[in-house]
Amino acid sequence: MIYLDYSATTPISFDVLDSYDKASKEFIGNPNSLHGLGVKSKELISSATKQISELLGTTENEIIYTSGATESNNLALIGACIAHRKRGNHIIVSKLEHPSIYKICDYLGSLGFEVSYVQNDRDGLVDFEDLKSKIRPETILVSICAINSELGIREPLKMIRQIIKKENPNTLFHSDMTQALGKIPVNVRDVDMASFSLHKVYGPKGIGLLYKSNLVRISPLIQGSSKEGVLRPGTPPVPLIAAAAKAIRLGIQDLDRKETFIRKLNERIVSELEPVEGIIINSTKYSIPHILNISLKNIKPETFIHAMEEYEIYLGTNTACASGDVSSTIMAVYEDENRASSTIRISLSYLTTTEEINRFLNCFHIVYKRLNSLVTE
Ligand code: PMP
Repeated sequence: MIYLDYSATTPISFDVLDSYDKASKEFIGNPNSLHGLGVKSKELISSATKQISELLGTTENEIIYTSGATESNNLALIGACIAHRKRGNHIIVSKLEHPSIYKICDYLGSLGFEVSYVQNDRDGLVDFEDLKSKIRPETILVSICAINSELGIREPLKMIRQIIKKENPNTLFHSDMTQALGKIPVNVRDVDMASFSLHKVYGPKGIGLLYKSNLVRISPLIQGSSKEGVLRPGTPPVPLIAAAAKAIRLGIQDLDRKETFIRKLNERIVSELEPVEGIIINSTKYSIPHILNISLKNIKPETFIHAMEEYEIYLGTNTACASGDVSSTIMAVYEDENRASSTIRISLSYLTTTEEINRFLNCFHIVYKRLNSLVTE
């Protein structure tokens, strides 16, 4: 099997699985219980949270555990809008966000909040002047992803933060950093809130994080029997939290070395596919090498993906969450509907081998030729 859909999800690392296994077996108490077993579980959570906060450069009470980035995005955007609705009714997002952000925006729209979509240039970079002009006194929040999930475009969060805070110091800045963690160094201090999902960094599925600066106030989305001020009540998933700490620690190691290797694989694929008639490489100067997006002029992406599956090669379409749709990201960058409805995402990992890429390319050519001959017949 050749897995090339690492941006959709990653296989759990066995080291991480060990932490999960150990915590499940040895820490059976509910961390909210007063007895010794509860205290032991609570201590494990404290030590995992301490480790995570050190790795991300935050304080411990700035980490909120969620079920994944979708929930973190919901908590950040809806939680901020509810908490600050007396101050304003306006939020701004980019046109390169994950579909979960747009769904949240639609929901906020139905509650009476106004959403503006900031323009980007032809390389996918957020248009600073447009952003500036859209920020108003009543703008509660701006949300811009660190790395776009389809084209891998990296946004300059520090500069964006400066623009936002200069225009309106009260406007909060959230970033969906789901595709950034484990691929590039992340600095959560560039933003007020950041979303993460652990299954993107060789961690377990079902756990995410929201970093929320202590200076920021948001409302909880879930009500439950917890202490005052807890933003995500309920019994904390002790083994998932222990595994999260391990996944982050391993995930952010050796990023430069991993990136150099992945860049070579990316360049090899591009150099071989770029000259092929009917293939367009969707990549800009801001794309990170881990995510390589291409459009096939004459072949439906789902047809191609299933044909590759016959060789046990697994690729992605737009995003795992919206397979087959017109890609709003490709539309925002290239303004070309054909290109946007025929995308394939090849996502690479430091676990990918040169041999896998050789076999992938061989099979790619065979499948491409076969499917193309069916189109022209
Ligand atoms: N944001 C981005 C940028 C993503 O790539 C994803 C996963 N496709 C999500 C949010 C949603 O993450 P999860 O499925 O863990 O909720």
